Amino acid sequence: MMINCILLFSQWEEISGLDENYTPIRTYQVCQVMEPNQNNWLRTNWIEKGDAQRIFVELKFTLRDCNSLPGVVGSCKETFNLYYQETDVEVGRNIRESQYVKIDTIAADESFTQGDLGERKMKLNTEVRIIGPLSRRGFYLAFQDVGACIALVSVKVYYKKCWSIIENLATFPDTVTGSEFSSLVEVEGTCVNDAEEEADNSPKMHCSAEGEWLVPIGKCICKAGFHQKGDACEPCGRGFYKSSSQDLQCSRCPAHSYNDREGSWRCDCEDGYYRALSDPPSVACTRPPSAPQNLLYNINHTTVSLEWTPPADTGGRNDVMYRIICRRCTWEPEECFPCGSNVGYSPQQSGLTDTYVTITDLLAHANYTFEVEAVNGVSDLSRTQRLFAAVSIATSQAAPSQVSEVIKERVQQHSIQLSWQEPEQPNGVITEYEIKYYEKDQKNRIYSTVKSKSTSATVNNLKPSTAYIFQIRAFTAAGYGTFGPRVEVTTKEESTGSVIIIAVVAVAGTIILVFMVFVKFPGTKTYIDPETYEDPNRAVHQFAKELDASCIKIERVIGAGEFGEVCSGRLKLPGKRDVSVAIKTLKVGYTEKQRRDFLCEASIMGQFDHPNVVHLEGVVTRGKPVMIVIEYMENGSLDAFLRKHDGQFTVIQLVGMLRGIAAGMRYLSDMGYVHRDLAARNILVNSNLVCKVSDFGLSRVIDDDPEAVYTTTGGKIPVRWTAMEAIQYRKFTSASDVWSYGILMWEVMSYGERPYWDMSNQDVIKAIEEGYRLPAPMDCPPGLHQLMLDCWQKDRADRPKFDQIVGILDKMIRNPNTLKTPMGTCTRPISPLLDQNTPDFNSFRLVSEWLEAIKMERYVDSFTAAGYSSLESVARMTIEDVMSLGISLVGHQKKIMSSIQTMRAQMLHLHGTGVQV
Ligand code: AMP
Repeated sequence: MMINCILLFSQWEEISGLDENYTPIRTYQVCQVMEPNQNNWLRTNWIEKGDAQRIFVELKFTLRDCNSLPGVVGSCKETFNLYYQETDVEVGRNIRESQYVKIDTIAADESFTQGDLGERKMKLNTEVRIIGPLSRRGFYLAFQDVGACIALVSVKVYYKKCWSIIENLATFPDTVTGSEFSSLVEVEGTCVNDAEEEADNSPKMHCSAEGEWLVPIGKCICKAGFHQKGDACEPCGRGFYKSSSQDLQCSRCPAHSYNDREGSWRCDCEDGYYRALSDPPSVACTRPPSAPQNLLYNINHTTVSLEWTPPADTGGRNDVMYRIICRRCTWEPEECFPCGSNVGYSPQQSGLTDTYVTITDLLAHANYTFEVEAVNGVSDLSRTQRLFAAVSIATSQAAPSQVSEVIKERVQQHSIQLSWQEPEQPNGVITEYEIKYYEKDQKNRIYSTVKSKSTSATVNNLKPSTAYIFQIRAFTAAGYGTFGPRVEVTTKEESTGSVIIIAVVAVAGTIILVFMVFVKFPGTKTYIDPETYEDPNRAVHQFAKELDASCIKIERVIGAGEFGEVCSGRLKLPGKRDVSVAIKTLKVGYTEKQRRDFLCEASIMGQFDHPNVVHLEGVVTRGKPVMIVIEYMENGSLDAFLRKHDGQFTVIQLVGMLRGIAAGMRYLSDMGYVHRDLAARNILVNSNLVCKVSDFGLSRVIDDDPEAVYTTTGGKIPVRWTAMEAIQYRKFTSASDVWSYGILMWEVMSYGERPYWDMSNQDVIKAIEEGYRLPAPMDCPPGLHQLMLDCWQKDRADRPKFDQIVGILDKMIRNPNTLKTPMGTCTRPISPLLDQNTPDFNSFRLVSEWLEAIKMERYVDSFTAAGYSSLESVARMTIEDVMSLGISLVGHQKKIMSSIQTMRAQMLHLHGTGVQV
């Protein structure tokens, strides 16, 4: 800044001169050494101070030594005074001394010096003074001469600052120094581009009073994707990355990864390679492992052990584990379903680190597929096809599982009656139970055994007041299962006549009551008609458990019921394993009557507890939709199931199914329940081929049955399944259920054929009244057909009871020889009834037309090739001839033979040789 001085008293003069180097300069001079009492002021113009707080004033001047001046008086001075005045604006020219603050008295270091040539030479003095802290916008400087000889050569006014600087990747701006000599100004730095402050370590510096940067603290670091070059951050090059600001350098992309951008914080995986969430960017990209190798299996009844070796390619990772996928395949291989939660895996199903697993609790006689998949940390990310090793295994026969639920039905002095539930996994048809027992306190433990064909038994000849231990096991074609848990029962005390009399006299009332309660035999639990309840809601809650809707997971729709959809899903009750269930729903907008009728089925089903009666899990009535939850029967209704597997079962298997249904019906009839609509369509089949009676209700079941038609007696009746007396005067009893059971037997043995084929209902009624009965289906053992005919006895008292039916079927199963019918030898009685319902062979001329009519057209070429060109030649065929055509499916052989036999009969009929039944 240019400083102009104002000569306030004219003693100061502005004079041109030369400096030490003889450069021309202008100076202000005063030299009133001869006059006493001098007071000469020289003042600068107004100086704006800007940001500065501490101002430096540097003066250059010469000052004459009083002694060097000839004739000076005593008033000659060798100093002058320096003053300043702070103001916010310029003020006038007047000086009021009192307004000035004295800075210092300035004296010369040397007033003059000896020159080289011995002459005295003026010496230029330099003095620096500091003023501050200043608070106003500007100030004046003033020089007071009190009688010296001064030449003021220059006045430099300045302040100090720290210049902008980059330190540790942070920029610090120009900073004016503090107001005090000792103060430091703290300055925050700003990170350069693409840099960020280090966590908890922001950059700071201090500007000293001298304008120097001191004490750097903290720093900035280059962000991810950038690295430091000098005072700047530069992006990582292509093919390089820096994942974190903490890293110093950019690194080359790891194996199987790349990037084609600059400034990347990571590299992308090549196609088919992945990075697990927990993988840091510095590791190579990896891929799922290949399939496990050398999968071996070992079957032991219903347990399968698998063993394998690790995959050839681990995908570049060391976290390979294995998981097992179990599917059970039904009769057709393409129908495979997940095994569900009943199957056990040891050590576990997934997350296996060892290369072996044991799978337990499989079903006997079932087909399974096991897939062993190797997985690693990136398997779930990969969209490529899963690689696994697989085996298909058929489990072998297995003995039944344990009989665990044993109930003491009646305990006497000398006998104990027990009943129990069929084992959870019968793995076949149970033909017998063995009851083993011994006296609890007997040392040598001599066992006795008793056998029973049903799920109850009475053990006689016991000692009174004696504790006995009982264990029960079931027997099937696969042998005995293991004994169930020990059950302890103590027989009653021996009582004397007098004691009884006293007791009777004393507590006669009580005795009667006790009698009523205890003389309750198994099976005497009676069915209560829910319609007898005034409030049907009470009936539902009396017999059915209310379930929390949140325990039920609906998975898919499997059918349509009369009141709404039927779905499959899962039920998970607290503390129990989740189970597959069927869920019947009540569609929205129902009437109160519909709701009542819908829940009526649950009120009935809930009263039953038998392995051959569909089990009710519970109901949801306190929410919408209203639901009935039933055990899930994987194979659906029996009629459709049989049609689908035409000819695929052994007679023993079919009889096993019938035995189960008969046992279910025995239970229902013992309870006094009359079904009224027993038919294959109302039997459900589970994955174990266990058949269970279903479709309960009152009149509505029959209303809802498409087979039911109105009869002259009023009401709807499924005519083909119903006994005469029920059709004629609505006499529905367990005996009429037995008739229906006979029809059901016929349906089963003919793989779901329609009873009386497509005869009209009227014709069926007429034929039955006239004494006609359905003939034995193809390959039906005569004993079974006889049982059907017994069920269709006109007089209902002559029909067998369900208990007897169960007994007859059990006997057949135990003696399979009685069920053997050499193929083709079981000829049907040919009757007019039959003639009405088989194709009319007279209407065919070609073998191909006949094959088409019986849906066997696929064999047309086989017949032609073997020379069977006319129906006459076909009618002479035997079963061996049919087999020689290469027709290997038993079901198809049967169908063709059956039709040939009918054809033969029709031809005989046509030629006047009618066969009478
Ligand atoms: P419904 O109303 O009882 O006649 O049931 C209609 C259809 O749903 C039946 O034909 C079966 O196919 C199916 N269904 C009913 N209950 C079950 C069940 N417990 N398990 C499997 N499917 C069932």
